[in-house]
Amino acid sequence: MGVRGRVAVITGGASGIGLAAVKRFAHEGAKVVIADYNEEAGREAEKTVRETGGEAVFFPVDVSNRESVDRMVGSVLEKYGQIDILINNAGITQDAMLHKMTTEQWERVLAINLSGVFHCTQAVVRHMRERGYGRIINTSSVVGKFGNVGQTNYAATKAGVIGMTQTWAKELGRTGITVNAVAPGFIRTPMTAKMPEKILSMMAEKVNVGRLGEPEDVAYAYLFLASDEASYVNGIVLSVDGGLSL
Ligand code: NAP
Repeated sequence: MGVRGRVAVITGGASGIGLAAVKRFAHEGAKVVIADYNEEAGREAEKTVRETGGEAVFFPVDVSNRESVDRMVGSVLEKYGQIDILINNAGITQDAMLHKMTTEQWERVLAINLSGVFHCTQAVVRHMRERGYGRIINTSSVVGKFGNVGQTNYAATKAGVIGMTQTWAKELGRTGITVNAVAPGFIRTPMTAKMPEKILSMMAEKVNVGRLGEPEDVAYAYLFLASDEASYVNGIVLSVDGGLSL
């Protein structure tokens, strides 16, 4: 699927799903920007891709900080002169039951998972409009569609991401830019490694394909939506959850 030669910015590209996407896109011939605030893991990811003959470069960014995002986007445009693909993949959890959730937990998750998506997209969209081409992919979650105990903040952001995706699909469709979301189920990454193995096994039993997801499962969904061939797919929320949401 066509991403060869495309410049793809993948936020949160140093770990988990983002890292799997970085490797897959580089393998398919894209010039990949690993945009992450974990410098050590980001540089390691860059090295791994380069050792396998792919093109990747790490740019540090905190997606919750507009100046940091503008700096990252400016550096990418200076290096490559274009951004074709933006994958708003960076995200965090800070779980607590509603009656125990602190304002700090609420605000931090919103700042990264929701405002971060807004900042990154706004920072690239003028450039994409001028070129008349763009693929924007936002990472939602099964939790954004159905909620989850202990995840008021996370569910709010992942539902919000769907709202922004649909709005931008309507705003930008005529400019050559498509905007879609991916809603993963439970995927084995450092994020879910924080959950007890017992809960993960219970989750796996509920999944119709009988297993948890792997980061690569989501990376392939990103790849399809980012490809040249997906030009008539706009505003969808693609579930990658093994049928969990049925
Ligand atoms: P992960 O392994 O924790 O990776 C997330 C990456 O984003 C990390 O490298 C993290 O850096 C980085 N990051 C966090 N805050 C950032 C910020 N402010 N600016 C830039 N980078 C930042 O997570 P994952 O499981 O791959 O999740 C990727 C996306 O999929 C997230 O949006 C998540 O909500 C979504 N998702 C995951 C699952 C799942 O089951 N794993 C399910 C549904 C949706 P640090 O390591 O330094 O924190």
